[in-house]
Amino acid sequence: MDFNKFIEEQLDTLDAQNQLRKLNTISDKNGLAVLDGKEMLNLSSNDYLGLASEKKLREEFFNDLAKNPCNENYKLSASSSRLLTGNHRQYRQTELLLSQMYQGREAVIFNSGYHANLGILPAIAGKNDIILSDKLNHASIIDGCQLADAKLKRYRHLDYDHLENLLESGRDDYRNAFIITESLFSMDGDIADIQRLIEIKKKYNCVLIVDEAHSIGVFGEKGLGLCEVFDAIDDIDIIVATFGKAICSSGACVITNSTIKQYLINKMRPIIFTTALPPITLSWTSFVLERIADMNSRREHLKKISEKLRDGLKLKGYQTMGNSQIVPLIVGDNAKTLTLAKKLQDAGLLVFAIRPPTVPPKTARIRFSLGAHLTESDIDKILNNL
Ligand code: PMP
Repeated sequence: MDFNKFIEEQLDTLDAQNQLRKLNTISDKNGLAVLDGKEMLNLSSNDYLGLASEKKLREEFFNDLAKNPCNENYKLSASSSRLLTGNHRQYRQTELLLSQMYQGREAVIFNSGYHANLGILPAIAGKNDIILSDKLNHASIIDGCQLADAKLKRYRHLDYDHLENLLESGRDDYRNAFIITESLFSMDGDIADIQRLIEIKKKYNCVLIVDEAHSIGVFGEKGLGLCEVFDAIDDIDIIVATFGKAICSSGACVITNSTIKQYLINKMRPIIFTTALPPITLSWTSFVLERIADMNSRREHLKKISEKLRDGLKLKGYQTMGNSQIVPLIVGDNAKTLTLAKKLQDAGLLVFAIRPPTVPPKTARIRFSLGAHLTESDIDKILNNL
């Protein structure tokens, strides 16, 4: 059979299931997203602190760059991997900054959260080990679990009794055991009980890995995320934090101890075999990280508008869940979700239908992803249009 014809048929099948995806071209106009020439309120970005459209911040950064355009901290490419000649001094500065922020723990930077999650478990978990992963963990974690050589068991979402049962019956059969979870789940907007996970990891001698992609910047007095709120920075073996969401940059880091850091640098393929981040990206990441402790008013505002939306949805009889800036509206059916997303877009609200396999079957939804730049009247606009 002709290969292109085969692929066309696969695409037709996805289309028939209302699962066909397409890339949209989006631009920004005064903080509004422009899609197909139409200006809309962007309710689908992970710009949780509202920094992406913050002109002042960008101006401050670029003013210095304009004064020193040839400063090597603003170089646009690393031209090599970290282990060869790409480990620019800005890596050391940003990792030192992260280390100071996270109570003196060690930091190691990766090109993205996807790189981090794809590479950590295959590097540290082997044949005689077991990985216990929350059933709703992000695709990047699932891919990392699948690449690792260890036994994989998935516990029911946030069901720590189930996790304990699995450890009670099987822990002794394995050398090392790894528990991996997101702290704030990206599609349901709900939060892991990190204290309970720490108790379990200590009881069963496990390594705990927590992905803070959606909570860094958003939670905690210093903006370090839920690990700060749970006072758990020292007790989590590996914290993964990403810079592409609230931090308004790109890249990711692992916060861990010096032994594990050393091991990851030696064994983790997504750090060894990829070109390092451009120094300018690391400079911008540091620039933002240095300021997140002072952003409590943004965090409080974000909390307030998130509660307003969640309460408003419930009052209108919609099914929602979680307790964060990620506010899902569960529809269930793919086609109905697509229709609702289209109607909301027509009303100037940029949302998308999130469908399986991103979420479990029959739980297609609209995912409102709020940022601190949104106002209470923006939330009213959403609720009035529903
Ligand atoms: N972890 C989680 C929980 C995520 O939601 C994402 C991205 N949406 C990632 C990791 C990947 O991070 P990055 O975008 O930096 O690759």
